[in-house]
Amino acid sequence: MSSRGLNLGCRQRCKEGVLKILSKIPEELRSLINKLHKQALAENLKVYLVGGFVRDLILRVKNLDLDIVIEGDGIKFAERFAMPFGVKLTAHRQFGTATVLLKSGLKVDFSSARKESYPKPAHLPIVSYGLLRDDLFRRDFTINAMAISLSDGSLVDYFDGRGDLVNKKIRVLHDLSFKDDPTRILRAVRFEQRYDFNIEPKTLKLLKEAGKLKMLEKVHPHRMRDELILVLKEGNPLKEIRRIKQLAGFKFIHPNLNVSVKTYSYFKSLEKEVKWFNKNYPQRRSLDTWLIYLMGLLDSLNAGAIRNVCEKFGLRKGEKKRLSSYKQITHKFIVDLSNSKVKPSRIFASLEPLSYETIISLRAKYNNPVFKRHIADFLEIYNGMRIFVSGNDLHGLGLVPGPQYQKIFAQVLNAKLNGEVKDKREELSLIRELLNKRHPILRG
Ligand code: ATP
Repeated sequence: MSSRGLNLGCRQRCKEGVLKILSKIPEELRSLINKLHKQALAENLKVYLVGGFVRDLILRVKNLDLDIVIEGDGIKFAERFAMPFGVKLTAHRQFGTATVLLKSGLKVDFSSARKESYPKPAHLPIVSYGLLRDDLFRRDFTINAMAISLSDGSLVDYFDGRGDLVNKKIRVLHDLSFKDDPTRILRAVRFEQRYDFNIEPKTLKLLKEAGKLKMLEKVHPHRMRDELILVLKEGNPLKEIRRIKQLAGFKFIHPNLNVSVKTYSYFKSLEKEVKWFNKNYPQRRSLDTWLIYLMGLLDSLNAGAIRNVCEKFGLRKGEKKRLSSYKQITHKFIVDLSNSKVKPSRIFASLEPLSYETIISLRAKYNNPVFKRHIADFLEIYNGMRIFVSGNDLHGLGLVPGPQYQKIFAQVLNAKLNGEVKDKREELSLIRELLNKRHPILRG
């Protein structure tokens, strides 16, 4: 444990400070905390708010995820808490944890105070029940290892996390921290860059040592994936990417991955295009920006290597598809869409099968103004275009329902995209023309 132990003299002042800050958080959260406080008193249990919520409360940063530790049975406490809300809880009995998701969208995580020991570096720890102090000692950094007692509102700060928040320092709790759990390397960078803090010198030395020992490559890839996604979900992931490259590198993703100035410049274009999309198309489904940035990060890999990364990281089918389709774009595709004379129906047919994430990555990659305009046209005009004729109309024209219906609709849509038909009358007259000419699409 740190020699910078709890300053009991500060306890009363801290408590008043904490209560003052708590009085300023949104009403809904305050009322939840109040309920937790009452339940803790009624059940005579030691219950604490911990982790990121406490850190952000002190920093006055919005954080709606409550993390609760109970010196006792966390799941039972959570069950009793959830009951009046009429919501279900998700419990992980082997870890003694439970999550309650309220109808308002607020999330409360409960866990029993735990003690951890690492039988082997970079492997999962052995967990047993413990006291609050054990639970805080197993955490990553001092700023994430504070607790607020729900009995009396006092701050419990064994490792001077508050001092480190004031001095903007990221500090591990003990020398083996990065070896025990190398994912903390990514976490250290994430918090450092997010809050504009510094990894303090000793922690930095320990981090670099773990990096040199290639500790990141020893962690189960699914755990690395989760931490990497969190990095890519940060507000400005390029800052984190540069710092990870500087401190530990990216060989944990793939041995051939080359993160270079080229990657950084692509990342900047990606950030610009994501902003462009969000500004211009706020009604569309929100982008999985982390996936866009992952495409950027993996840009130096070929299609085969990307498939390997997807396998190793256990990415979902849809994620894999979006990452791979970006790599399958041909030179001809780019040349076609960079031609100012290309027909709208062609633009539509090329872009419609692709995800927004792939389209944004392409727009960031190819700086040709015509190509960019065609993508904007697709998103603004072609993508939402609908035709007026329906199945009933085709039936009315004497056509028997069958696969040719879809083909006719596609033909009419193409004509509409190209400005050849405008209203329902013109659409119907195009279909009649096809019927008169016994167009091949009418067969089968
Ligand atoms: P964020 O604001 O990014 O959600 P957070 O601190 O809430 O940050 P979580 O990943 O939700 O981060 O973790 C909650 C808490 O669990 C952390 O504050 C930290 O105390 C602890 N924790 C999470 N991951 C680790 C880890 N790898 N090693 C030690 N402690 C961890």
